[in-house]
Amino acid sequence: MHSEDQNETKEVVAKALRPYGTSIFTEMSVLANAHGAVNLSQGFPDFDGPEAIRNKAAEAIKRGPNQYVLAHGIPVFREAVARKMERFYGLTVDPETEITVTGGATEGLSATLLGILEPGDEVILLEPSYETYAPVSAMAKAKIRYVSLEGPEFTLPKEKLAEAFNPRTKAIIVNNPQNPCCKTFTREELSHIGGLCTQYDAYAIGDEVYEHLVYDGREHVTLLSIPELKDRCFVISSTAKTFSMTGWKIGYVIAAPALSRAVRMSHQFIIFCGQGPLQEAMAMAIDFPDTYYHELLADYTQKRNRLSDALSSLGFQVFPTAGTYYLLVDIRSLGFDDDVSFCRMLTEKAGVAAIPCSCFWNNRSRGRELVRFCFCKKDETLDEAIKRLTAYLGRR
Ligand code: PMP
Ligand code: GLN
Repeated sequence: MHSEDQNETKEVVAKALRPYGTSIFTEMSVLANAHGAVNLSQGFPDFDGPEAIRNKAAEAIKRGPNQYVLAHGIPVFREAVARKMERFYGLTVDPETEITVTGGATEGLSATLLGILEPGDEVILLEPSYETYAPVSAMAKAKIRYVSLEGPEFTLPKEKLAEAFNPRTKAIIVNNPQNPCCKTFTREELSHIGGLCTQYDAYAIGDEVYEHLVYDGREHVTLLSIPELKDRCFVISSTAKTFSMTGWKIGYVIAAPALSRAVRMSHQFIIFCGQGPLQEAMAMAIDFPDTYYHELLADYTQKRNRLSDALSSLGFQVFPTAGTYYLLVDIRSLGFDDDVSFCRMLTEKAGVAAIPCSCFWNNRSRGRELVRFCFCKKDETLDEAIKRLTAYLGRR
């Protein structure tokens, strides 16, 4: 065996991963716990989803079987997803050949990227960009091209995007609704992307985990509904946000049969299959009546407004949240200009944790004025955070 010293001097981490540190979500949650802070950083609810789902899972675990299931997921789950796509978007999806159940959206993204990328292929990422896209593209030895969303509304820069596309472009990732800028893409923006993908024979990968958290009467436009993208997109979603069970890690990828084959090829070698009893419980949840989805949205709308009003009153410039369960603020209005030190100070001194947003840019000098708070918390948790922020920031 190697001695401790030898292990310490040898770089074990693969080159592709070296530019990426520990996930900001881990970092901030650990810091929050260490300081007893109210954790509005990592996006998970501090309540569990409906009891009926948990009862169903418990019943399925007790009854069994508790063995491997089909690698691409149990039929009842895939059928429920197909029904949902019809119910919400009027789209027909074949559960047999077009849906793959994955270990959350996270594994869905990895399985998709690792299933389609060749070394040297290019992947376009729109910044700010969710933290897994770049490292997984790098693991597949792809080259990343970054295109920044622009202005206070994080608009898609159509010309710059067109310049980024080239014959080596294999895919673009579109996170809609977008984490962390909380925008929703318009059909027109997505059609523009569809046109470029067609022109360059590239794929669009839609990360749509917040598809049911779209506010104020807006409509979620799935990539699958863009005619140019129907056969060249992978739509990834998850049950984590919609049913408030982020720990279960049940996601899925929807794509045309030839594309789904690529996802399934890599998925079978990454994890083989997911957890049957939990898929069974989530299949039931997906079929919940529309009232469930409406109440979820009404509840989150109230929470969004509660936190947004309080942050505005404290003097933050708050960006509007069209989708997701986050609020983005500009800290310059309070005289700060460094998100990382601001978030550390807030966690340690005010007892409230949030996410510094420069980590969502490749060039960390960008986004330093932006901080993200999540509002998927009990009202009393939000109120406690507001109380602490008011006590700390109000007294400066
Ligand atoms: N994509 C985005 C944009 C997310 O915010 C998250 C996490 N909330 C995920 C993917 C991961 O989803 P899952 O927990 O299902 O892996
Ligand atoms: N998606 C969550 C967020 O944006 C975190 C998920 C995770 O910790 N991997 O905060």
